Amino acid sequence: MLRELERKNKMECREVKEQLAAYADAQTIPPELEAHLNSCEECALELAQYRALSAATTRMQFATLDTPSWLLPSLTSAVRDKAEALQVSRQRMSKLADPRVITGGVLVAASVAGAMLFRERRRRKRTIATRLRQSLARA
Ligand SMILES: [Zn+2]
Repeated sequence: MLRELERKNKMECREVKEQLAAYADAQTIPPELEAHLNSCEECALELAQYRALSAATTRMQFATLDTPSWLLPSLTSAVRDKAEALQVSRQRMSKLADPRVITGGVLVAASVAGAMLFRERRRRKRTIATRLRQSLARA
């Protein structure tokens, strides 16, 4: 009976894991998913990892809101150089040099980095799964 229950959980794991990332920030989890997580340590751990990653990404965004003063001059000149290269008008350039705009740019960069980290992680997992399937098919 217990073994049957374990096997049932294993069969559901793949299905559950496909949904886990979507619930990283969720306050509530569907009852059937919750039931699986209560009985499956592996999936529960994976959700915990998604949550930790999500929390880390959020902290990273807040951390970059406070642009360190030593970084501002180099960021300002980097943005100016970029603007010059793109032949942005003088009026817009003075706006671009505004620290608030630069902080906003860093924030966007951090968000993009966080999203890429998340996607890369999912992509890598899929790649591993595909390779595993291929080597099993060859065997
Ligand atoms: Zn599971």
